[in-house]
Amino acid sequence: MIIVIDGPAGSGKSSTARAVAEQAGIQFLDSGAFYRAITLIYIDVNCDRAAFFDALKTYDVTLQFKNGVFHVFLNGNEVTELLREQRVSEMVSEVATINEAREFVNTHLREVVKSGDFIADGRDLGTAVFPDADYKFYFVADIRERARRRFKEMASAGLDADLNQIIANIYERDRKDSSREIAPLRKADDAIEVDTGKMTLEDQVQFVIDQVRH
Ligand code: C5P
Repeated sequence: MIIVIDGPAGSGKSSTARAVAEQAGIQFLDSGAFYRAITLIYIDVNCDRAAFFDALKTYDVTLQFKNGVFHVFLNGNEVTELLREQRVSEMVSEVATINEAREFVNTHLREVVKSGDFIADGRDLGTAVFPDADYKFYFVADIRERARRRFKEMASAGLDADLNQIIANIYERDRKDSSREIAPLRKADDAIEVDTGKMTLEDQVQFVIDQVRH
């Protein structure tokens, strides 16, 4: 079984998917974390595309969902804590426009889900990566609310957080993600749209679980 949640940045996809996974005893797959991990490689090669493509051929990216945390490793080194840094958030949507990067991530995502039941979150899962998913959700919320959530998340993770900078970053990422040529952020025709702006995390989790039980 595969459940997907797509939507703009900070709409509550990841926290909902993570909690549903824990409650339902299934696996959680954070596709954005994958894009963030390869963005670290992109930054490391000074945004040189040829060097980036070479690196993608040799890098080993592994994922592990354990005790509610989605861990990511690059060549065996854990990079989980680096993924939310501002430098990554500012570059990731550029990396996500690169066809080779999307193919690299999609190949891994499709491989990973063969190993069991998953709930995954992203931008193009219902439209491009898993068009035959069993359940599709599309989360939306007002940008200020989304930025406030991201702010809280970053602050509680001990990261430097500035609300105006977060609003600007979310705005820019949504713009890039919605307007890119390949697999833009878009609701799949058969996805259930959920406005999470006034919902608590518990409401969101319950909503998804109720739909899946139906
Ligand atoms: O989910 P998160 O905000 O961590 O995603 C980071 C970025 O990765 C997004 O802004 C988008 O550019 C890219 N992404 C994507 N397709 C996905 C998941 C994420 O393009 N399925």
